[in-house]
Amino acid sequence: MLALKEKMQVIKTRKALKSTLSSLKQGISLGLVPTMGALHKGHLALVERALHQNDTAVLTIFVNPTQFNNQEDLDKYPKNLKSDVDLLHSISEDIIIFAPSIKEIYNNDVSSKIYGFNGLEKVMEGAFREGHFNGVATVVENLLRIVNPNRAYFGEKDFQQLQIIRKMVEIQNLPVKIVSCPIVREPNGLAMSSRNERLSTTTRKEAAFIYQTLQAAKKQFGTKSAQKVIESVKRQFEKQKNLRLEYIEITDAETLSPIKRKIKNIKYRAFVAVYADDVRLIDNIALN
Ligand code: AMP
Repeated sequence: MLALKEKMQVIKTRKALKSTLSSLKQGISLGLVPTMGALHKGHLALVERALHQNDTAVLTIFVNPTQFNNQEDLDKYPKNLKSDVDLLHSISEDIIIFAPSIKEIYNNDVSSKIYGFNGLEKVMEGAFREGHFNGVATVVENLLRIVNPNRAYFGEKDFQQLQIIRKMVEIQNLPVKIVSCPIVREPNGLAMSSRNERLSTTTRKEAAFIYQTLQAAKKQFGTKSAQKVIESVKRQFEKQKNLRLEYIEITDAETLSPIKRKIKNIKYRAFVAVYADDVRLIDNIALN
């Protein structure tokens, strides 16, 4: 699909990307997969879906400074462009890789646009990471405008982010279909994440407890009240030495507003953020 000169290379500037995109045949479909790199099988599942549903996929690698509310987290974010490129080419050579610099995306103004997301941004990650979703939406809007894809792919691993992006696309009236992809997990159930690389071998094993607890919560949710499930999750985490629960929420999956009482036909999800040693991990599960 791609001409030989575009294969195997990483595009660094908007100008070069525009030129590559305009050299593609008219009318072909494009799938965009935005990432922050340090790629794993969760990212690859998004790329495979994008390649399956479109003629060409663009994967972006950009560690977006405006979505980090913690400088140390930003500084320690794993970066390995070379192995990312190798991994991508192990599944296909027809992926356009765009890895711009901060200047290329933000020029000299490294700041977020301020959006209103109807309350979606106020809870969970929004409450614990100030400004996070304005940063995410700013960079995703930017990338969507640069690439102009038919579809863009996001993981349910960051379920709140997915709902925020759907809202941003609606507000900005962008002509793109947002496609959500299920969470890819390690064999022990831990949700794959670039941050897992920072865990010690022992903690990485212990972190399997996060998904085990979410699965237990799902089972309990069939017969118990949401409040009882939440209390039970908190109690279980208190017994863990190296895992500290930051929050557990059960919300309406659409509006992300915390559950008051169960209502028939509403889909609910449980969300957690957990510090494993000093690494912050998030996970979630559909409850019904
Ligand atoms: P990140 O590089 O962490 O910003 O993630 C880029 C995209 O990959 C986001 O849409 C994430 O939700 C998605 N993603 C990350 N980890 C997983 C996973 N374990 N399963 C599915 N999607 C994922």
